[in-house]
Order: sequence, then C-alpha cells, then structure tokens
Amino acid sequence: MRQPSPLTLLLLPILLVTTLGGCQLEPGEAGVRQQAHSADADEPPPLAGFTVAIDPGHNGGNLDAPEVIEELVDVGNGEKPCDTTGTNTDDGYFEHEFNFDVATRLSTLLTSEGATVLLTRTDDTGVGPCITERTALANDAEASVSVSIHADGGPPDGSGFHIMEPMKIAGHNDDVVAPSHELALALAGTIETVAGMPPADYIGTDGINPRSDMGGLNLTTVPKVMVECGNMRNSHDATLHRDPEFRQSLAQALADGITEFLEATATPD
Ligand SMILES: [Zn+2]
Repeated sequence: MRQPSPLTLLLLPILLVTTLGGCQLEPGEAGVRQQAHSADADEPPPLAGFTVAIDPGHNGGNLDAPEVIEELVDVGNGEKPCDTTGTNTDDGYFEHEFNFDVATRLSTLLTSEGATVLLTRTDDTGVGPCITERTALANDAEASVSVSIHADGGPPDGSGFHIMEPMKIAGHNDDVVAPSHELALALAGTIETVAGMPPADYIGTDGINPRSDMGGLNLTTVPKVMVECGNMRNSHDATLHRDPEFRQSLAQALADGITEFLEATATPD
C-alpha cells in the first residue's frame, strides 16, 4: 500500500477541521437551531397567566388629609389607622415618592414578562387608599402574589432591608402564612444578590420579620409580604434611595424574587 505523502499528512488535520466545521453549517443543523429559536418565540412569556398586586405604600396627599388617613379600620385583631404618611430621608425625599417610583419600575418589568399587574394607586398625589382597600384589591382579584413596597424610618445607625411577613391571624390569613414565608425568602435572596443591599442589622433575622400588627398582612388571603427597602433615616441607605440606578436594580430584584416564587410554587390562573 502506498504510504501517504508528507504533504497529505500535513494537510490531514486541516481537512478534518474544515470538514467538521462544514458539518456545523449543514442546512439540517441550521434548521434545527432556527426551529428551536422560533419555538422559543412562540412560547408565552414566563409570567403569562399570573396576576401580581403591587402596593406602593402611603401616598403624596396623606400629609394634608389627616382626617381621612387617621380614621380607624378593623384589621382582624384590632383597629389601626386607615393609612399613614410614611417616612422621609433627612434631606426631604419622601417614602411615598420612593415607593411609587420603585413600584412603577417593578410594574414595567413584570408586565414585560407577561404578568397582569394591579397597582393599589396609580399616582403619587392622592390620599390613601386605606390598608383594607389596598388588601381587598389583591384579595378580590385572587392575585397570585402581592407585594407592598416601603422604606423604613428606623434608627439612624441601622441599615439594610427587611421583609415583614404575616403571622397567623385566625379566620383571615390562615392559608397564606406558609407561602408568604417562601415569598419572603425568595425576595430576601434577590434583594441581596441583585440589588446588593444586605439584610437589616437592626431588626428581623436575616432580613425576615414576622408580624401580627400589620393590617395588610393580617387580612391578606393571597401570599403577601411588605418589603422595607432599607432605612431612610440612615445616611448610607438614604443615598441609595435617591439614586435612580439603585431603584432600578431594586425593582429588578423584586421582579426576580417574585418570578422565582411564582415559578416554584404557583400555577398561572
Ligand atoms: Zn411605609
């Protein structure tokens, strides 16, 4: 048998590489990739069929309407004011404005993922609504999940986020205490990893804070948490609150945590 010439031996690896490379560009292969791509395009967005209630805490008109927001309402285990004014940074950035901005950003993100979003208020100039009405909006719609957005007015030397989750109020939130805890865990993870904010060092445990004194948590019949996105009385957190880039990353963190929770525990409506 004739031995291959030195030139053939030299060219063989090049020929093999060329042939294999050609295989990757065969029409059939390209067709498979195209098919997979178009199948992805045909799939519904990840949150299609889910209803998400977003509650930006307080409102811009509350300060001027004490007679409305101080009215007492039944919260399942007692009475509480209809709403409150919220807190603010030392240099005058109000919590209601921060909450509304983050909620608006979050709504845009969730809508783009296919979710139906319910907002408890659609501007930052009105009064209320009462905590009972905010909660009823999510309950009546049988929302898949409900998230109330706040920032804390804690001690100036304390910083970081905490998430208030419901404790059991018999006859009201019995069925949603456990899933609300799962929601809290998911959000605690994404707020730290996506927004870069650590759990609070002055309240809660690892950013989780079970409560029985929050009307919005007592009366909920859907999985719900209230997120305190840092402490406005702390100068470090207040600087973050004023930063639009931080607010966007926070909204992304909330969207990611909500998505993680829904994909793990719920089925679309
Ligand atoms: Zn608040």
